[in-house]
This record gives sequence, C-alpha cells and structure tokens, in this order.
Amino acid sequence: MSDTYEALAVIAAAARAAYADGAHLRVRSSGIVHQVAMTRWLGGHLMPGPACMVGVSGWDPGAAHPDHGEVTCRRCLKLQDRADVDPGQLDLFDAPTPGAGPQQLPAW
Ligand SMILES: [Zn+2]
Repeated sequence: MSDTYEALAVIAAAARAAYADGAHLRVRSSGIVHQVAMTRWLGGHLMPGPACMVGVSGWDPGAAHPDHGEVTCRRCLKLQDRADVDPGQLDLFDAPTPGAGPQQLPAW
C-alpha cells in the first residue's frame, strides 16, 4: 500500500477511536448533535459520520467532533424512529415514509 493510503488509515483509525465510547457527533460549531454511522471515506476507510448523511464540509476529518450530548438532529432521530424530536429544528427535506410510492413532482 502507498504512504498516502497508510496515512489515511491512521487518520480514520484515530477518528473511529474518538467515537468508540459511543459518543455522538457534532459538525464544527453547530448546536445539532447527530447519531454516528460509519461511512466510506477516502481510500475506502471507515470514518464516523452523521447517520442522517448531512454534509460535513467535504472530506475534512476535522469538521466533525465527538459530543456526549443527546442526539438532537431530527433526521437522525427519525432514523432511530424516536418520538422525542425537538420541534424547533426544521426539516431540511422530507424523510421518506415507509411504504410510500413514487410521486409525480409538479413541473413548476
Ligand atoms: Zn443527523
């Protein structure tokens, strides 16, 4: 393997270790706390990321931080099928509902 691949492996392993105690994830200075899911990162390495797949400033591993607060992201909570959603956070877009079929979008 190349030196770059090995360097990425070290960065990814350090990130996974930072969340190994079950920490949740916060993006930069955002007040929203996300559930953590492993995502494919550069070189195919597993990297902790927000379970809702909200953007984390490209591939910057320093944009996300462990947070031991409760998950407050509505999309992450919906993915967990939990009812304690903070009504103050707006949806970025509608989450798919189970069983819903395809819909025709309006042209305008
Ligand atoms: Zn989230």
